[in-house]
Amino acid sequence: MSKSTVGGDQVTPTYLIRGARVVGGGPTDLLVAGGVVTRVGSGLDARGATVVDADGLVALPGLVDLHTHLREPGREDAETVESGSRAAALGGYTAVCAMANTSPVADTAGVVEQVWRLGREAGLVDVQPIGAVTVGLAGERLAELGAMADSAARVRIFSDDGHCVADPRLMRRALEYVKAFDGVIAQHAEEPRLTEGAQMHEGEVSTRLGLTGWPAVAEEAIIARDVLLAEHVGSRLHVCHLSTAGSVEVLRHAKARGVRVTAEVTPHHLLLTDEIVGGRRELVGPALAGPTSGGAGTVGTGYDPVFKVNPPLRTAADAAALREALIEGIIDVVATDHAPHALEDKECEWAYARPGMLGLETALSVLLSVLGERWDLIAERMSRTPARIAGLVEHGRDPAPGVPANLTLVDPAARRTVDPGEMASRSRNTPYAGMTLPGRIVATFLAGEPTVLDGKAVR
Ligand SMILES: [Zn+2]
Repeated sequence: MSKSTVGGDQVTPTYLIRGARVVGGGPTDLLVAGGVVTRVGSGLDARGATVVDADGLVALPGLVDLHTHLREPGREDAETVESGSRAAALGGYTAVCAMANTSPVADTAGVVEQVWRLGREAGLVDVQPIGAVTVGLAGERLAELGAMADSAARVRIFSDDGHCVADPRLMRRALEYVKAFDGVIAQHAEEPRLTEGAQMHEGEVSTRLGLTGWPAVAEEAIIARDVLLAEHVGSRLHVCHLSTAGSVEVLRHAKARGVRVTAEVTPHHLLLTDEIVGGRRELVGPALAGPTSGGAGTVGTGYDPVFKVNPPLRTAADAAALREALIEGIIDVVATDHAPHALEDKECEWAYARPGMLGLETALSVLLSVLGERWDLIAERMSRTPARIAGLVEHGRDPAPGVPANLTLVDPAARRTVDPGEMASRSRNTPYAGMTLPGRIVATFLAGEPTVLDGKAVR
């Protein structure tokens, strides 16, 4: 896109977004130029601007994902920074935080800078690397947290995600270390001794199916320990992919005490339950949002590894508690835990399949299915708050004059049936294949330039 200047320093508007409902409000026009929103109002006109017809569309601040696995370096067959960035843009995201469990692990300034640079080269979303807490994710000694914080990637979130920082002394030291630069430790809460050999949520369904269970207490015990450590140190803790009703209660208690803790929930833990592992397609979301999802109530054969994920899909009661906690604010953000896997790692026997699901291209639709059109809540949980937690000051801001033009346009009336073959991700492990979900991302703007237009990636 060319930008011309008129009268010296005045930049000619390059995009006129007409009739968008900003965070679900009344229709208004947005003028975008020089990377920022320059004007908001009705009947705006701008000669030379490219007009984007946003009649009936909702404008949201670009979504921000605190938990994305981009698989590069190491598993470029499953995803690359570029393919994952494109999937993110198509999902309405303008920033993603890339988890550290790559190969090599992102535990040095060199690796986080490499990921950060690849993100800039792709130019489809802002890729903010997360650094590992411990060397090689081995849970034995701290990685070079300070060097990663001082690097060009300016790492502020550290996580061994995929693994729990199980050693309490190491966890305490990590919390102490990052306090100096207001960093945050994002914990994958799983007491490893309680989940040895675990294949799915421990409960009625695991007993029926004869699979080793992953008990809720393995998550809750670590969260309880960590909020106490965070309180003791006075540091920031973030809990990854909270999945049980008991975890919500631990968090409620910690927040009431003033502990500096935030938490995320994934779209799949809000919508799907462990019954689906046994073949029963029980979707809990439509109970709130109306019958939007096709396929609910049908019976499949079960043991489909596409539904294997860590932490596992829990019970309907857990999902209901997570939804309520998300609405109430006990859970701060929705994060995808987008986890692409190559076919051979996923399309095999349940016990050998890698845990994880795609998430970036379906997250907003799942949230619409679960919450309905609560736009302010969606903006808060999927953009403003995650941007604040990650320290991404250019993101998470509602479109207004002077604000960086990181935004997405959503068509809430659209319905789409999820087709894995149409996804931008290099992997196909979406748990929503064949389901009809509400909403469609029509356009995404990153720093004033479209990455998605008419529902298609621009590059
Ligand atoms: Zn995890």
